[in-house]
Amino acid sequence: MQPTPCPNCESNDQYRSKEVGAGGGHAPNYLPGLGRWYAAAKFTVVVCRSCGLTRFFASEEAREKLANADEVDWTRIS
Ligand SMILES: [Zn+2]
Repeated sequence: MQPTPCPNCESNDQYRSKEVGAGGGHAPNYLPGLGRWYAAAKFTVVVCRSCGLTRFFASEEAREKLANADEVDWTRIS
């Protein structure tokens, strides 16, 4: 992932997490239908240290599944 300046404050002081599960089980699943049957899809969290804007970036594997994802879960908007 190429870092870009924060879209809110244009800071370059940002931090990226390791890949984390996008939920499921007792937590909401933020990437429904994009994981595997035994594991939720993953995303990486990027936090801007200057303003706190927090962004979630779905893994490549999850993004590849979007084009054929269930329309109940995902609607293409652009
Ligand atoms: Zn910022």
